[in-house]
Amino acid sequence: MLSALRQASRRGFATNASVQGFNGAVGNTPLIYLKGLSEKTGSHIYGKAEFQNPGGSVKDRAALGLVRDAEEQGLIKPGGTVVEGTAGNTGIGLAHVCRAKGYKCVIYMPDTQSQEKIDLLRMLGADVRPVPAVAFENPKNYNHQAKEYAEGLENAIWTNQFDNTANANAHYVTTGPEIWEQTQGRLDGFICATGTGGTLAGVGKYLKEKSGGKTQIWLADPPGSVLTSYVSSGGKLVERSGSSITEGIGQGRITDNLATFINDISGAFTVPDTKSIAMLYDLLDTEGIYLGASSALNVVAAVELAQILGKGSTVVTILCDGAYRYQSRLFSKKWLQSKNLEEAIPPHLKKYATL
Ligand code: PMP
Repeated sequence: MLSALRQASRRGFATNASVQGFNGAVGNTPLIYLKGLSEKTGSHIYGKAEFQNPGGSVKDRAALGLVRDAEEQGLIKPGGTVVEGTAGNTGIGLAHVCRAKGYKCVIYMPDTQSQEKIDLLRMLGADVRPVPAVAFENPKNYNHQAKEYAEGLENAIWTNQFDNTANANAHYVTTGPEIWEQTQGRLDGFICATGTGGTLAGVGKYLKEKSGGKTQIWLADPPGSVLTSYVSSGGKLVERSGSSITEGIGQGRITDNLATFINDISGAFTVPDTKSIAMLYDLLDTEGIYLGASSALNVVAAVELAQILGKGSTVVTILCDGAYRYQSRLFSKKWLQSKNLEEAIPPHLKKYATL
């Protein structure tokens, strides 16, 4: 029987062999040993380098998985249009996939997202439609607008990353098996924040099954997300309040992707932005890696989980994307001051805030 990794490669995800085009280069990312933090905590902390995907983020896997699933179901034909609501990274992944496959790409996104992501989407040929950032319950929310637009078009799909479980499945058949093979199955914990929940649900399900339940799967939340309180209270959904500078993560509801796994989550906690920003600068200084804020949050969470699981434990998290698409914010003193976060950067690391 083919291993899951080989099955994945047959579906167009990357292997170590040479690859064809953008789609063949998605996946098979390195697992980086975070040496400084591992030594400091007496544990083994790894980050899966998803920023090395060809479109620059973990969402390339979901984008490719969602489009391939629609093709397999005959929902889109050559020359068709892919429509999605996204904070940006899924849109960037989709825009690449669409270019490679010859589809048109229409992206609805909340107008709170970084200019870099909008610029990149336009450079990739996507038709970008920024809309006011309103809650999911509001019919003008970017997701509903994407759905409505796709429904009115011939030969078009709304990929629906939040509630289409082809998203989590892309991680179940690629990210999960890769992490298992890269750690030779020796991992005590996996933790990450969620937006759609695709990464956590897909990776979590695979690792839990493969380890016979031994690997604990935890969820990390930014402020303003309701998932920590949902998990900790045994399933009570509270109203969303508060906010975070992290883009692409945090959620006010249980998406269908997350619903496939939420009952198997061992625990959850919230990471304040002050800790994420300090970690972002520290990782640049000590490990030489230049990450977005959700990755930094994930690493803070991995350190905390390693402390919970005890000395010598092995914990893996996701390095979702690089800082390039946020640098006008995360490396701008003025922007950080406007968010009351400049003081979160340790004094000896302030030299990196150069914009
Ligand atoms: N980090 C970033 C930067 C993202 O854009 C996203 C996706 N919106 C995530 C993390 C979360 O991934 P998922 O949707 O699989 O939960």
